[in-house]
Amino acid sequence: MASEKEAALTAAPSDSPTIFDKIINKEIPATVVYEDDKVLAFRDIAPQAPTHIVIIPKNKDGLTGLSKAEERHTEILGHLLYTAKLVAKQEGLEDGFRIVINDGPQGCQSVYHIHVHLLGGRQMNWPPG
Ligand code: ADP
Repeated sequence: MASEKEAALTAAPSDSPTIFDKIINKEIPATVVYEDDKVLAFRDIAPQAPTHIVIIPKNKDGLTGLSKAEERHTEILGHLLYTAKLVAKQEGLEDGFRIVINDGPQGCQSVYHIHVHLLGGRQMNWPPG
């Protein structure tokens, strides 16, 4: 299986459906930990920390990545971050957590449907790799 970096270098932004659309449409399974009418949060299939959750908008609306954000996306962007806070609390991450949004090849993005990574349950390091 390709590394995350290799996958990110070959992935490309597109409005075509991604693996996350299949999760939204329940065509493939995911462990959903939070859901409302706008967002879905589920456990990452390759966790990088004891808690690793991916939070996505149900309607991508052209938001393949943060670099494609336009003014109309400000509400959903805020909602994604607020959901991260709710899920962090739900997961008991009282000692802290990290939020990551990868963008583009150098940001190591491999799925072009904007998503927020919520990582916690261990001590994080800085700078990130
Ligand atoms: P990277 O793959 O480098 O972490 P992204 O920021 O695009 O880049 O993250 C996509 C995330 O989606 C990865 O952490 C990956 O493990 C996760 N993922 C891919 N497929 C699934 C799936 N079917 N269920 C849950 N998580 C998934």
